[in-house]
Amino acid sequence: MIKRTFLVFLAASFSITIFSFIKEDKATPKQKVIRTIIIDPGHGGTDAGAKGVYSYEKDICLDVSLKVGKMIEKEFPEIKLLFTRTTDTYPALHARAKFANENKGDLFLCIHVNSAPGKRMSEVIGHKTVTYYTGKGKNRKKKTKQVPQYRYWTAPSTAKGTETYIWGAHKSEDKEIAVRENAFMLNEENYEKNYGDFNPESPEFVAMTLLKTKQYFKRSATLAGFVQDEFADVGRVDRDVKQRGVGIWVLQATAMPSVLVETGFISNPDEEKYLNSEGGQNEISECIVKALKKYVKWLEDKQEDDRKDDKTRNEYPGSSENTKAFLEMIEQKEKKALSK
Ligand SMILES: [Zn+2]
Repeated sequence: MIKRTFLVFLAASFSITIFSFIKEDKATPKQKVIRTIIIDPGHGGTDAGAKGVYSYEKDICLDVSLKVGKMIEKEFPEIKLLFTRTTDTYPALHARAKFANENKGDLFLCIHVNSAPGKRMSEVIGHKTVTYYTGKGKNRKKKTKQVPQYRYWTAPSTAKGTETYIWGAHKSEDKEIAVRENAFMLNEENYEKNYGDFNPESPEFVAMTLLKTKQYFKRSATLAGFVQDEFADVGRVDRDVKQRGVGIWVLQATAMPSVLVETGFISNPDEEKYLNSEGGQNEISECIVKALKKYVKWLEDKQEDDRKDDKTRNEYPGSSENTKAFLEMIEQKEKKALSK
């Protein structure tokens, strides 16, 4: 009996020891690189978005967004997922951005469908005889001539493929404003320790918001690149990562990394079919989630490097001339703010 009690005691203390080791190990866990993702299905309700022959952009956006959500749930059960809409409604754009900021999103993912205007076509289908007169009075003469007859129609655009937008281009002010206005909600622990009191005028605060803007830009560019890579891998036409300074308001108003995926052209009959099909929507969603996995891995590696203070590794892939110029501009601002 004693022996047994002792064994139980031994086993218990052993497991407590192991447990405390595990606990200790968990006491310094890797910080989660993504806690909350906001998925924003474009358009909705009275705003149908682009129209195809038989379908609307808003419906495809919602279908794909919900599929992406399901896949993320499966792949990353620990990530909190929020949707700006899950039915056929139209939340205003500022409400979508506000929702994302208030919920401290770590990523804002917009799903859209592209459209390109068709080409106006014409052809001669025959000739018509028309009568006309020349001269006046006695000289007036009746004449006839042949006039070509045309048929006009609009050929659907042949544009196809995917493109992913990030906010950026030539001005950073708007994103900076968004970051500044939402700074108090940023997912930053030890904020006070790191940046002191909230004084929007202080150089440290301005520099911090610029740093965040830069960080969000790099992250957005990286994820967008991964998304396009995945689409290219499954044979979609890769129209690349694009920057826009105007036009995609939600990207600039969200104080977090944000990308807008144009999943295909509804104006192209083949792609309209693909975008509406179960197989097409699944393929699109899988590409986005695969890219997200790469992105999370990239963030984790970066976190590891930061911890080891290893700055030798290339900080982010896909540095085009545009992105370099953008980052340089923000760095200049940072220096200026700090030298005040
Ligand atoms: Zn759209």
